[in-house]
Amino acid sequence: MGFDLVIKNGKVILADRSFIADVGIKDGKVAAVRKSIKANGCPVRDARGMYVLPGAIDVHVHFQLPFCGTISADDFENGTKAAACGGVTTIIDYAIQAKGGSLKEAVEKRRAEADSKVCIDYSLHGGITDWNENTRREMNELVSEGITSFKMFMIYRSQGWMADDAILFQGLEETTKNGSIIMVHAESAFVLDLLIERYHTPEMMAKYGAYLHTLTRPCYTEYEAVQRAITWAKETGGRLYIVHMSSGEAAEIVARAKKEGVRVWAETCLQYLLLTDDVFKDKERGHLYGTCPQIKKKHDQQGLWQNLIKKNIDIVSTDTCTFDTKQKAMWEGDFTKIPFGMPGVETLLPL
Ligand SMILES: [Zn+2]
Repeated sequence: MGFDLVIKNGKVILADRSFIADVGIKDGKVAAVRKSIKANGCPVRDARGMYVLPGAIDVHVHFQLPFCGTISADDFENGTKAAACGGVTTIIDYAIQAKGGSLKEAVEKRRAEADSKVCIDYSLHGGITDWNENTRREMNELVSEGITSFKMFMIYRSQGWMADDAILFQGLEETTKNGSIIMVHAESAFVLDLLIERYHTPEMMAKYGAYLHTLTRPCYTEYEAVQRAITWAKETGGRLYIVHMSSGEAAEIVARAKKEGVRVWAETCLQYLLLTDDVFKDKERGHLYGTCPQIKKKHDQQGLWQNLIKKNIDIVSTDTCTFDTKQKAMWEGDFTKIPFGMPGVETLLPL
């Protein structure tokens, strides 16, 4: 067989093993992986001392997203270029329905923003903020068009994004009929808002700075919401996916639910696996690490790693939502004004 390209002597990484081999490419696809492939005059790349592995998929990014009073700094062009440089060849972004608006319109709008700019493969998750007959119909139409995952936010009341329990419940019911999956940003909206209000004083802000971001979001504000969403998934039989899970307790709850047979999957992100909330103690730079949910404690990090190894956590993504230092500076010492998000898509694979 003739090839268009042969990659020689690299360490080939498969899902379950790695070995030194040659890789033959034909028509843009891997056509052969063997100990030795004859090039027969086709171009050859020597990958000695290098890994040869499939392109990674980052299932959770937000490019050019209007959020926290600004727009995330990576657009679909810069963002997908960064992804490609880091070995990510597919990203999945979100198309969030305006409250009271059309889900399909949100998808069309996002596609119009992305199509002419992306330089790698991309797809979209739908984002459901409202539930009515129109949403239900559009969700089903999108499933038949290939969009099969729909995010709901259990917080962000003031932004108009929050899906209450009734919306979540009905969305999960619908997944039992159309085979899609509901993704949730799981945090307890009402208790969270209460705690933020309690700490949001000039004295507290002067004393703790960006560390208030962590003081106002104790782990129970995540694991309570994870538990609640899992309860609805269990009782409806629906399919649930927890996005950017950040606490060890939540990971244990997911592990127990999986054992019980609840149809739940979970994702965590690099920042939760590699950093701890000590980063917020840095008075000068702490706010740069502000994400939502926030980076948690050492024992959470350990709990996430343990459950990742046990396959109770299914996916590692980045939740890339980049803000440059100027945008981050908009916080001006007020932890409630930190633009939430960090870069990450370019470093997913190396890290
Ligand atoms: Zn996100």
